[in-house]
Amino acid sequence: MADLIEEGTGRRRSDNELLDTALRDFYSAADYMHLDEKLVSILSFAERRIDVSVPVEMDDGSVQVFKGYRVQHSTALGPSKGGIRYAMDVTGAECEGLAMLMTWKCSLGGIPYGGGKGGIKCDSTKLSKKERERMTRTYGARIAPIVGRWSDVPAPDMYTGGQEMVWIMDTICKMLGHFEPAILTGKPIGYWGAIGRTEATGRGAATCGLELMKARGLDPSKITATVQGFGNVGSYTAQILQQAGVKIVAISDTTGTYYNPNGINIDKAFEYMNTNPAQRGGKLRGFEKENCEKIPGDEIIGLDADFFFPCALQGVLNKDSAPKLKAKYVVEGANSPTTPEAEEYLTDNGVILVPDFLANSGGVIGSYFEWAQNLQGWSWTEEEYNTRLVDLIKNNFCKVWNYAEENKVTMRRSAYVNAIKRVADVVDMRGLYL
Ligand code: GLU
Repeated sequence: MADLIEEGTGRRRSDNELLDTALRDFYSAADYMHLDEKLVSILSFAERRIDVSVPVEMDDGSVQVFKGYRVQHSTALGPSKGGIRYAMDVTGAECEGLAMLMTWKCSLGGIPYGGGKGGIKCDSTKLSKKERERMTRTYGARIAPIVGRWSDVPAPDMYTGGQEMVWIMDTICKMLGHFEPAILTGKPIGYWGAIGRTEATGRGAATCGLELMKARGLDPSKITATVQGFGNVGSYTAQILQQAGVKIVAISDTTGTYYNPNGINIDKAFEYMNTNPAQRGGKLRGFEKENCEKIPGDEIIGLDADFFFPCALQGVLNKDSAPKLKAKYVVEGANSPTTPEAEEYLTDNGVILVPDFLANSGGVIGSYFEWAQNLQGWSWTEEEYNTRLVDLIKNNFCKVWNYAEENKVTMRRSAYVNAIKRVADVVDMRGLYL
């Protein structure tokens, strides 16, 4: 990774698009709030980053060495917190950018964590379960020295889930020689996980959408929405919105977009996903049979709807696709789905955008609830979990909305200012030593 320092400003840039965007967004918010230049420099770098090699014995007896990373951007507010992703575009720089976003997400979320992220560069869909297990355990052992309930608490992210968390936790517990459920979150419910965590990110995104409707005086039963991605985030976002009366006119996944202007029955889509999931690779493939039209995946952006919820990939709203968007409101369920150029274009055209680190913060807030329960050895009911989650998200939404309205800035700018302020104040209070 080339670490570039911009001439004249002395500021950091990166040839990795995600890290570069994270840095540009941070600098621009820091300038807006006149943040002390010392704090700007400190917060533009990750505190710690480790690169690990992950040798895996493949099923055919050969050995493949994967590249893995774990980054702790900040531990100012508490242990660094963030997921582990398995994807081909994972690099140390990308993890740095994502870890920085986690710092702002946790800060804005009002939870006692800093930001971290990790991952392995791999196509996990091409690995057998045994290969994935060996890879995950070796990665877990290699990052174990910096993981801990009071130091760095990983969680699932793209292409990882409860099973990966159990493998990592089991490996580290065996290395430690004692049981430690709070060293990571996103565990299965039957094994120290929390009831509510699976739906938490979607519940948070849906709550942000509904709060935005309330703030704009819109009646959910008169609103239409499209949801991109039908995984852990999008599926629950769509379901919870529908329960609140919103008409979901299209859903999509890597197999295509499924569209019905009269509304798609999301419970049916869940049912469809759960019938013969292995046969369709856990996807919506064939769902057009259930009374909807199938169109190409990226065409979801151009469909007529009031709200668009990008809940899948980064960069889907870019300078080419943004002019096609019909929706007037965007709620970012995914991390970084909008490029800065696209956001500028959309803002100029009156689109209101709820930024990722507010809209998808339900996941990490839910992780905090799981961690707190693990530390106590005590479990909450689903109702307690959901009520606390929705209350926190509503509160955070209002904070961001009110500041944006009062200062005539975008919600992203407002979210950044609120998030950076909490971290910067603590860094300043704690001082520079180490
Ligand atoms: N991977 C999720 C995120 O990006 C959750 C992280 C966590 O729970 O620590 O927010």
